[in-house]
Amino acid sequence: MRKLLVQAAGAFGAVLLACCGLGCGMDGPEGESANDPPRPVRLILQITVDGLRADLLSRYGDRFGDGGFRALMDRGTVYSNAHYQHANTETIVGHATLATGAFPSEHGMIGNVWFDREAGELVYNIEDPKYPLLPTRSEAVKGAQVDPAQRQARTEGRSPRALLASTFGDELLVHTAGRAKVFSVSGKDRSAVAMAGHGGKAFWYSTDSGDFVSSRYYYDAYPDWVRSWNAERRADAHSGGSWELSRNPSTYLLGARDDRPYETDLKGYRRVFPHPFSEVGNPLFHTLLLVSPVGDTLTAQFAKALIVAEGLGQDAAPDYLSVSFSSVDAVNHFFGPSSLENEEVVTRLDRTLADLLAFVDAHVGLDRTLIVLSADHGMPEMPEAMAEQGLQVGRLYPEDIIQRANEAAQRAFGVEGVSRFFFRPYLYLNDETIEEAGLLRGEVEKVVAESLTGMEGVAIAVARSELPTLADTPVVRRIRRNTHPSRSGDVYVVQEPYWFLYEKGPVAAMHGSPWRYDTAVPIVFVGSGIEPRTIHRLVHPADIAPTLSAFFGVKQPSSAEGMPLEEVLPDGSTARDDRESGSGGGS
Ligand SMILES: [Zn+2]
Repeated sequence: MRKLLVQAAGAFGAVLLACCGLGCGMDGPEGESANDPPRPVRLILQITVDGLRADLLSRYGDRFGDGGFRALMDRGTVYSNAHYQHANTETIVGHATLATGAFPSEHGMIGNVWFDREAGELVYNIEDPKYPLLPTRSEAVKGAQVDPAQRQARTEGRSPRALLASTFGDELLVHTAGRAKVFSVSGKDRSAVAMAGHGGKAFWYSTDSGDFVSSRYYYDAYPDWVRSWNAERRADAHSGGSWELSRNPSTYLLGARDDRPYETDLKGYRRVFPHPFSEVGNPLFHTLLLVSPVGDTLTAQFAKALIVAEGLGQDAAPDYLSVSFSSVDAVNHFFGPSSLENEEVVTRLDRTLADLLAFVDAHVGLDRTLIVLSADHGMPEMPEAMAEQGLQVGRLYPEDIIQRANEAAQRAFGVEGVSRFFFRPYLYLNDETIEEAGLLRGEVEKVVAESLTGMEGVAIAVARSELPTLADTPVVRRIRRNTHPSRSGDVYVVQEPYWFLYEKGPVAAMHGSPWRYDTAVPIVFVGSGIEPRTIHRLVHPADIAPTLSAFFGVKQPSSAEGMPLEEVLPDGSTARDDRESGSGGGS
């Protein structure tokens, strides 16, 4: 394996890579040979697949084609044992950790939704009325919202204001004196906004219109290329269509598992193939596209347009592009991760990815691109599926938790209604009620937590006031890393493994636990000079941003706690971080 050359390159201190041929890294452009001069990395492509539990890549390994997931795994350094270290494995929490290398206790994104004590209401993580959505059309369009977290948002304004740490992209902008370009695209607003950081530009798919949108935080008006892309109305071309299997059912691992009674039939979308999208005008139409491979295809098409229009990877300052694909997660929520729909959406994403990578090769060169693939969280099987395997598991709902908490406080203190509300994973207590009754809040927390811990399906409920003194178990450590002083709730509720804990509704499977199926994600680094190999050591997605910083000699994001992964760092890199409280220990 040829080694990387590390050279100070002009103002950017760019890392220069020995050029690659067929034998190393991704295939380089034709005519390139090992003797060509080294080339700088011009594009950092961070690919995140929402909800891609780590084992799904090995489950479907022999079903992938050329140039997609298999190429990344064959040619990259693969971390086979990567786990999040925080307890609340939700989308915003995972994306913010990927972007900042920090824990939620520091980056502040402790959940998709939290209670803002100042405002006295629940807030959606990236909601910001100061920066309204930039309209893409003259007429208003409003679709139905099936994302329970997003439904909590009261305004359409979006910004990264609540993200309390800098991201790798932010630091890259500082390092290059603003000459790097930092962009982020996703099927989901929160995934796009977190990865763009504070200084980058974010675009996301609108389930209202099928357009890719942004907010006034990023732009006063859309660039022309965005206006033209949206004018094509690519999403609407699927009106009246349906999601069909791309191959004969007998060729699928899960071909005989299409119809399971606990999958969701989302208002006529059916539990079995084909899944009809309905038509433009149906409030659910653009959402249903996201619950199919079309969401990922549109995301990749928009990313390709962005690469060309914004000229990514064309000059010496390395640019950063985050592409976060959302359809695997959406499909998992309604059909589960061991459904025929999951196999179809992941294998179709493999083709979308192959197409995107070929495009990047043509426009930037894969030999000039550093790729990192990961996910924001994993996914549990549906409880009914695990019950069939013999586990005693079921579903827990917020109302059950609130009722139990209220009954416990009523018994102990004779006071009614101490719970204000529950938004997974936190129970929030009613301060007024507690104050009026002259009770100590810590005492109430304790009684409620003790009672909830005894509830069927609850592994442990932890009172915030008791957190500092609890025994340092793996789960308690993960809860601590999830605890932000003003945002976290009063009692953290952890369900038993494979128990469902979320609102009643169309969601068939829900991630968010601290258990291994929710913390396990792939981490793969690919670039010329990065050796194809598999590392089985325990590593963490929080290591990714510090690794990128070390790779480029850029200072680390402000609150990063992860450790640079030395296997992918160029020889001679001196950017190792030796903080004592790194992530090398158990999680
Ligand atoms: Zn997610």
